Amino acid sequence: MIQWRSLVGHDTNKELLSHAAQDGLLAHAYLFSGDMGSGKLDCAIQVAQYILCEASSKPCGQCTACRGVISHTYTDFRYAFPVELPKKQDGGAGRGITPEGWELLNEAVCQRLRSPYDPIPHYERSLPVDWIREIRTTVERGAVSGSSVVILIEGIDVLSKESANALLKMLEEPPENTHFILLCRSPERVLPTIVSRCQHMRFGRIPRVRILEELEKNSAASAEEIGHALALGRGSLGAARAACTEEHMHRLESVGRFTRILLGYGQEDELEQARALEKFVEEDLCRSYTTAHQVVLLFLEEFRIHFLTALRKEPDYILHEHDEMKMLCEQITVDQARTVVAVVEQVLESLRKHSPVLLAVSELFFKISELVYEEYRC
Ligand SMILES: [Zn+2]
Repeated sequence: MIQWRSLVGHDTNKELLSHAAQDGLLAHAYLFSGDMGSGKLDCAIQVAQYILCEASSKPCGQCTACRGVISHTYTDFRYAFPVELPKKQDGGAGRGITPEGWELLNEAVCQRLRSPYDPIPHYERSLPVDWIREIRTTVERGAVSGSSVVILIEGIDVLSKESANALLKMLEEPPENTHFILLCRSPERVLPTIVSRCQHMRFGRIPRVRILEELEKNSAASAEEIGHALALGRGSLGAARAACTEEHMHRLESVGRFTRILLGYGQEDELEQARALEKFVEEDLCRSYTTAHQVVLLFLEEFRIHFLTALRKEPDYILHEHDEMKMLCEQITVDQARTVVAVVEQVLESLRKHSPVLLAVSELFFKISELVYEEYRC
């Protein structure tokens, strides 16, 4: 049996893994798929600890192996996930990752293993092929401290072709006593040759009541904030937790400010509106791609929740209403809402490609203004 510690929900997966562990039938390769913050990494860490743990009741969380997994210091355990390295450190063009780059990667890995529910800032970046090759040396070397090697790799759905091939080579000739736990968000984007070598487990939505219990127990957020976090979390504990943080509240304020400008509050004419927009990009988004991406994404989420509420007339669905967003949604038809979603997606894509922040946000602004204005004329 696996002594689960922190995993909320996913009872069927826990049971399946526990039984497999009890019968000594844990697969040599698993593919865990699920949204950000669903708990798949938390689960993978505990399975890794179970395999490596030295105690009789596993995972104990206390032995050298269990602690070494979390601190990423245990020689028979390796973890990698999508991290964006500064250009200078990522090697590139076959130059290899610099020593500073490795240091940064290790720091990021330790941070992530300690907080497995936190969002990954640059999920779309593939992990460098050098990282996969480095992991391969551990696999080829075999166990040193104990009797098994556990490799945990996240972001299998965003691997570059080169990295995916390097991984495939490891999966094709798996040495004995090596366990792979691969993690992804969109299994349909994973190479079929990788999927076919793994036992696939899906991590679906966690029931709202379980997330609610968890947030009430472990967060300082108010009932109103928790209600809002539940709506935004959409069955992901990580997303719900992230929605209770101070940074999230700041981003929420930015979304409100953007929507007010969109509706023309406090501006006499279009010129003033354009100036207000520029000031917003300067002050709230600091012309940063990451901040802009987060705020635009949150705008979409807020829009979605408010629009559905307006449509379904379910006042208890959201407890933390935003007057501006409510106003905007009341003016928009279902067809226009589809256009808004499509425009936001385009803008997110241009931000990912590093198109100038002001340009991307202006595009969002003008396209939605046009819709609202159209409605006024009707
Ligand atoms: Zn242990």
